[in-house]
Amino acid sequence: MGSTAWAKKTLQGWGRFPRVETECARPERRTELLRAFQERGAAPVLAYGLGRSYGDAPLLREGRQILTSRLNRMLAFDPETGWLRCEAGVSLVDIIDVFLPRGFFPPVVPGTQFVTVGGALCNNIHGKNHHLEGCWGDHVRRVEVLLGSGEIVFCDAQTNPELFWATTGGLGLTGIILSMEVQLYPVANASIEMETVRVNNLDEFFEVSKESADYSHTVSWIDCVQSGPTMGRGIFMRGGHARQGVDAGSSVMDELAGFAQKHVDGRLFESNLLLNKATIRAFNEAYFHKTPAGVQKVVSDYMPFFFPLDAVQNWNYAYGSRGFLQYQMVVPEREACREILEIVSKSGMASFLAIIKEFGEQTHGGLSFPEPGVTLALDFPNFGAPLLEMLDRLDEIVVDVGGRIYLGKDARLSRENFRKMYPEWEKWKAVRDEWDPEQVFQSELGRRLGLVG
Ligand SMILES: Cc1cc2nc3c(=O)[nH]c(=O)nc-3n(C[C@H](O)[C@H](O)[C@H](O)COP(=O)(O)OP(=O)(O)OC[C@H]3O[C@@H](n4cnc5c(N)ncnc54)[C@H](O)[C@@H]3O)c2cc1C
Repeated sequence: MGSTAWAKKTLQGWGRFPRVETECARPERRTELLRAFQERGAAPVLAYGLGRSYGDAPLLREGRQILTSRLNRMLAFDPETGWLRCEAGVSLVDIIDVFLPRGFFPPVVPGTQFVTVGGALCNNIHGKNHHLEGCWGDHVRRVEVLLGSGEIVFCDAQTNPELFWATTGGLGLTGIILSMEVQLYPVANASIEMETVRVNNLDEFFEVSKESADYSHTVSWIDCVQSGPTMGRGIFMRGGHARQGVDAGSSVMDELAGFAQKHVDGRLFESNLLLNKATIRAFNEAYFHKTPAGVQKVVSDYMPFFFPLDAVQNWNYAYGSRGFLQYQMVVPEREACREILEIVSKSGMASFLAIIKEFGEQTHGGLSFPEPGVTLALDFPNFGAPLLEMLDRLDEIVVDVGGRIYLGKDARLSRENFRKMYPEWEKWKAVRDEWDPEQVFQSELGRRLGLVG
């Protein structure tokens, strides 16, 4: 058996900021992964899934990175209970491809299906059903972790619960996840029964959100260019997996999305000029008015409902070579959300994508992001210093009301504000240090926020 082929590669998260050059191994088998880990020398290590975290969570300079996406074997499935055991590099698109035709769907999905189950646990991802189903980690048991010592251990809520807690949302800093068991949920077909409700401002958003608490999935797009009485106008979407016999079939829009995914690549549109205030304003205007006022009932395919942006590969390149930053926060107070939208709208630094949702009561502690309140996700082209200054200002508002920002989307939060946002960080670090006393697992985010070392 040969030795590990390490290759220098430039890695980046989805925001393409920052980018790091690092020594990578891309094992195809578990034995190759274990060998790469042994052969890393004394270098620190970090796993890299599909790089759908936006910032520096999946990146490590001066270390070794293990790319996990080829470790994608499904190991066992129980059709009676829906429990799937799989390697950590299995992606949600793999799971959906194999199990949707058999009547099962992942329990929680983010806005893209191109994430690995390892990445899903390390960011403890949430979806449109957070208010009822919590996060990815709520549907997982028996996680197999390679520790810094080289030992392999299992953990879940009963076995090594502290390791499980610290690994869930732990940004890859407790060890390399080799496999896990996740519970898939039965669905009747590939369709979604949904309603769209046009809301004219933030107050209407909160009203519709309150009356939609029983829908399994809710999320809204808002036009964050607006200020004053129309601030927060947008499209509220609610619904869930369709009942038996209700089927969208395949529509022209689905065919077009399928075509776009095969043939349209965002890299063709790479430009620092494409997404600016004027184009974003025009898009928002058209998108808002495209949806008729009132409540519309639709049966759609699951793709445009769950993964609308996946229709164009590499759409992140359309922000240009400077990259972009996503700012996702959750605040327990609505007024703070209003204040943030006001600042963003006045700044002239428009966000192309603005998503808002109210989380449920489930919290997980540690470094997991969701907590009760309203979450807002905004994408900004990387305008440099003016943007960074505005985001620092937003952090202060978030900290003041006891909110936090999503670390899986972050590339710039200060250590000081991180500590205020995540008051359990010391407890989390104590658990991590116990399981990784040699500080083998590190990342750029971990170094910036003082989570390692
Ligand atoms: C378009 C889009 C929409 C999104 N929508 C949502 C959303 O609605 N909700 C949400 O919660 N998130 C959302 N995300 C974020 C995304 O779900 C997370 O960042 C997810 O963790 C990415 O998974 P990945 O496989 O790409 O992991 P990566 O980004 O490669 O890695 C994520 C973290 O996991 C660690 N890691 C990965 N694999 C392993 C392993 N095997 N062992 C140990 N550590 C590992 C990495 O070191 C890193 O710290 C979205 C992202 C995009 C691009």
